[in-house]
Amino acid sequence: MKRSTTRFYRIDLRNHAASYELEELIKEFLRHDEYRLINSAVKRRNSKPVSAGKWQMSYADVRLPSSGMEKNDAKRFLYDSLADLTDCRPAWGTLTGVRPTKLANELMSKNGLSYGEVYDIFRNKYYVNHEKTQLVLDTCKNQAFITSEPAGRTAGVYIGIPFCPTRCLYCSFTSNQADESAMERYLEALLKETESVGTKMKQLDIKAESIYVGGGTPTSLSPKQLERLMSHINRYFDISAVREFCTEAGRPDTITAEKLAVLKRYGVDRISINPQSMNDITLNLIGRSHCVDDIYRAFETAAESGIPHINTDIIAGLPGEDYGMFMHTLEEVIRLAPDNITVHTLAVKRASRLREQDADYHYSGGDEVGRMVGDAAVRLGECGYYPYYMYRQKHMKGNFENVSYAKEGTESVYNIRIMDEHQTIIALGAGGISKAYYDDGNRLERVPNVSNFEVYIQRIDEMIQRKEEKLYLPFE
Ligand code: SF4
Repeated sequence: MKRSTTRFYRIDLRNHAASYELEELIKEFLRHDEYRLINSAVKRRNSKPVSAGKWQMSYADVRLPSSGMEKNDAKRFLYDSLADLTDCRPAWGTLTGVRPTKLANELMSKNGLSYGEVYDIFRNKYYVNHEKTQLVLDTCKNQAFITSEPAGRTAGVYIGIPFCPTRCLYCSFTSNQADESAMERYLEALLKETESVGTKMKQLDIKAESIYVGGGTPTSLSPKQLERLMSHINRYFDISAVREFCTEAGRPDTITAEKLAVLKRYGVDRISINPQSMNDITLNLIGRSHCVDDIYRAFETAAESGIPHINTDIIAGLPGEDYGMFMHTLEEVIRLAPDNITVHTLAVKRASRLREQDADYHYSGGDEVGRMVGDAAVRLGECGYYPYYMYRQKHMKGNFENVSYAKEGTESVYNIRIMDEHQTIIALGAGGISKAYYDDGNRLERVPNVSNFEVYIQRIDEMIQRKEEKLYLPFE
């Protein structure tokens, strides 16, 4: 994306009711220090400058014609104005939300529109470019083959293990480096919540459609701790309807044959091994505690374990990586032949060390990252992988997206449901955010756990009570 680095802009949103969304759109064009919002009370009085320094202008560069403008009209007006001023046209047009596939799916299911009609809406109403529109429609088509609407009394279950061996440079998740005794105390609290939630689900006849043990890195637990967790899940949840049981094993250096044997024994049929990069220099730079050889070893161990499905995550836009390094990672991962390959675009969130070191990191290198994710899509298509779920985040390098590609028949139902938001998610553990789905109004109500794991341990009874009061209402 080409961007101006020399001009500064004043933008008058005329106190528009949707100004948060409009400002999100502005951020797709401009860095935070390249623009200033002024409100409609600041009128053009004369042609002389009214302020000093870089904001030296007497009137706004961009001004919405009226405060009563319909939101999408206002966004298009802003997009056109900023595109003229900055000479760039962000690929995702005026869409600032994180779930483009949800929007497309709803246009088709609720409004009865065809793929062609949705294509036109994405292009003409939201200004999404041809490639991204096609990506959304391809993803929607692939999802439609995989799964229909979730059955009535089902839920997705998420269980969080907020520990990792080290903290990645870009991490903004609930990830802690803790000793064995802290993990043990955490596990005790988590087992208590597992028992309570599983019992309640059985009472209300709610079936888990999928179980996802994530983090953090669940395989940070010892084999014995994993055994206790898995046996508790099997004992308290009704897993007769479970279509998918996934456990993240993101850090290759936490994977052992013993741990994978435990997972297999208790029904885990999918693990996620996440190299992020296949370049040692990068792994070192981003604070991982493993090398590329550990990744190869982890894949061998996983193949011997008999767990049928492996997902693997890689990231475009990592510090110090150019196009060639990213494509090397992609080719190596393809050679390892996992069922799913998820291509993330680096997002630099507030809580990350990278953001502290370089608050503007995500503003640079957008063109090159665009080439990485675009060429990855082509290459993966050539190798028999197709996109089946995707989402966007804030502060992504170049404002691109995360896309998961799958070999046919190996897609993750849990991931699709999460993006689709038509099913209750029951999340256990520190940082887990449950979402109660109400069919009548097609809405979700959040029921969060606290994110600090020590606080979670202290307040475990309150977390359980909170679920009792709010989470199960749609099923009662
Ligand atoms: S592996 Fe994931 S959760 Fe753990 S520190 Fe890295 S980014 Fe954070």
